Amino acid sequence: MTRAPHYPLEGVASWNMNTTCNYRCSYCTQRFVDDRGQWARDLPRFIAGFLALPGDWEIKLSGGEPFRHPDLLGCVRALADGGRRVSVVTNLSAPLDELIEFAAITAARPGLISASLHLEYTTPEAMIEKLTALAPHHRGKTVVTCVATRASLPRLPAIAAEFAAAGLRFRVQPEKQDREVIDYADDERDVLIQLGGHNGTGAIAPSFEGRPCWAGARYLIVDHQGEAYRCYPARRQRAERLGNLLDGSLRLASEATPCRYQYCNCTVPQQRGMVMGGA
Ligand code: SF4
Ligand code: SF4
Repeated sequence: MTRAPHYPLEGVASWNMNTTCNYRCSYCTQRFVDDRGQWARDLPRFIAGFLALPGDWEIKLSGGEPFRHPDLLGCVRALADGGRRVSVVTNLSAPLDELIEFAAITAARPGLISASLHLEYTTPEAMIEKLTALAPHHRGKTVVTCVATRASLPRLPAIAAEFAAAGLRFRVQPEKQDREVIDYADDERDVLIQLGGHNGTGAIAPSFEGRPCWAGARYLIVDHQGEAYRCYPARRQRAERLGNLLDGSLRLASEATPCRYQYCNCTVPQQRGMVMGGA
């Protein structure tokens, strides 16, 4: 069996804190969720749960659209005051002053702003303008991602060049339907690979099946009700549940264990060296 990577000093919890979103993208993986109006309500218990995680952690906020959570900034402040690094995955539609406030609150330990470009609702130019205005306030990393639908794929090389010219990292994410990457044609796959593959990993559907991965020990995902799973494929299959962050039942693994999944769409473990062979 492949050797496990070194113990990741900083763990990462991806928190899907709400299903609420102001967009309705045609390819949204949450569009079949029964209720798109749910959000994490008992914030003090969530904050206490995240601050109680053992060791050093980054909390990566996503949704839905986290800036649609009614107390997003209060929540970010409480996590940052507790010493957690806070990152966010956002469609960047929030007003600029709210984005600047997020950057100010997280300035002591800045995280990642992952801005998702949704071409059904906004333009590359509008996003570049907003990120350029935000740049002097945000000391952490910024990345722009875009789902490569069949309709958008032909435009993406030019869009990638636009972001590169603005000094911004641009990554593509293959479209999924029914939880699987869509059946791209060979020429479409070539374009995707030229654009870096899934989130810059170089592959369209990365697989680490059988390899030791720290997800479940130093990475986990938590939903708006506190339910915790090892990673996104685990949650999809309702496997490797870790318990609930809110009721004291959360149990993290103590070491890296073999990946059980054929397809890994979890960017964090791949990009943070939590699984051997990641980007
Ligand atoms: S912005 Fe994200 S969460 Fe909202 S509809 Fe689009 S893909 Fe879904
Ligand atoms: S699917 Fe990805 S994150 Fe999950 S255990 Fe496998 S390699 Fe780790």
